[in-house]
Amino acid sequence: MNRTRVPAAAPQPRRVIAVIAATALTMVCGSTSAQNDGEPGFRDLYRELIEINTTLSAGDCSAAAKAMSARLSAAGFADRDLQILGPADHPREQALIATLHGSSPKLEAVLLLAHIDVVEARREDWQRDPFKLVEEDGWFYARGASDDKAMAAVFTDAMIRYRTQGYKPRRDIKLALTCGEETSEHFNSVRWLLQNQPAALQAAFALNEGAGGELDAAGKPVSLQIQAGEKVYEDFELSTTSGGGHSSRPVPDNAIYRLAAGLMRLSAYPFPLALNEATRGYFEAQSKLVAPDVAADIQAVLKTPPDTDAQARLWAANPMWNSMLRTTCVATQLSGGHAPNALPQRATANVNCRILPGVPVAEVQKTLAMVLADDKIAIKPSDEPVVVGPAPPLTAQIMQPVRKIADTIWPGVAIVPTMSTGATDGRFLNAAGIPTYGLSGMFHDAEGSHMHGLNERIRVKSLMDGRVFLYEIVKIYGSQK
Ligand SMILES: [Zn+2]
Repeated sequence: MNRTRVPAAAPQPRRVIAVIAATALTMVCGSTSAQNDGEPGFRDLYRELIEINTTLSAGDCSAAAKAMSARLSAAGFADRDLQILGPADHPREQALIATLHGSSPKLEAVLLLAHIDVVEARREDWQRDPFKLVEEDGWFYARGASDDKAMAAVFTDAMIRYRTQGYKPRRDIKLALTCGEETSEHFNSVRWLLQNQPAALQAAFALNEGAGGELDAAGKPVSLQIQAGEKVYEDFELSTTSGGGHSSRPVPDNAIYRLAAGLMRLSAYPFPLALNEATRGYFEAQSKLVAPDVAADIQAVLKTPPDTDAQARLWAANPMWNSMLRTTCVATQLSGGHAPNALPQRATANVNCRILPGVPVAEVQKTLAMVLADDKIAIKPSDEPVVVGPAPPLTAQIMQPVRKIADTIWPGVAIVPTMSTGATDGRFLNAAGIPTYGLSGMFHDAEGSHMHGLNERIRVKSLMDGRVFLYEIVKIYGSQK
């Protein structure tokens, strides 16, 4: 798709009128009830954000950042509090930093982080146009409907409402709408800002994507999750060499066999089980939500020493549970040999590790060497090792407001800490000493939102409930001493 068709940075006149109308509506009606305060304006904003293509291949992430900046400006934010930031050589990947100033400049800010870039999507593969917001049978469909334009729209809308309603927090509330989360190998706003404009993201803590809520088969809210920590993604390249020669005269030393033998040892090695505050909290909460036999196994794993048979049963029941309990390293790619009739001279494999928070990459590399038990297998971290940050603490300051607001929307729902086994931009913030929590209040059923896949979606009710939840909880965090 030709990028010039992507809407221009400056909002069109029709859009300006819509923004003013929505803002005026909010100011006139005042907040009839926080719930549906300004919902038409929110829907309009969400649609605009969704319908600006922000894929790396054909989109313009900066255009989306500027469109949201225009809405914040129309709501009364001063130009100095609306910064578009990014390197000159990435003109289409500029981030927006918007600041709502607090009454106590000595207090550190609260950061609201959301990425506005989206994963690629091909029109011909989808049932509907992925870059048009479609509402059908209680669902919104579009690329980014969930990941991550739902939170980006809710945060931007909340900042507009705080401003137009005259809400004055104690702490600054910063909104960061960023690019490159889905394509960090190409460019990443958060990493670039931390390296080049660290003040822009400086905060006491941050809210980010990474956790939602679970609905049961009947659509009833079961558990609201808060993500505290994420495993670190790291690839290691393993390589072996051997003399080679004519394949009609095989010799004992063979690069492929050597590597394969090492990998077989790795496949049989479970890294030590290690719980942290988030995962212990997660399993304790889960043990109240699952069948009695599974609950008994969970309790057995939470004991010291943990029951390894029970752990094996949990692994079989839910591989995600296993990946929450330990660092994992798995072979994902393999290659070797250079000709069918020649003995191999070289074999290589990629081993992808997901490392528990706080565990140094070097320690995992040492364990790999121990397990492979063959100093003829070279081990090399395949790219720039990520500085590993500690898991953010689940303090009362963070958790009590979650409980309080959750009970006003989903009375009695279980609050479940979790640690994500995937990666978000939170990894950069945690490593920079900014504790980052995945928290959206957006519930999904077992089928999930199809994020990164075809026909991405989010329940309209889940989005609107999440909007209420985040609007209220950010207000509390912003007013904390
Ligand atoms: Zn995402």
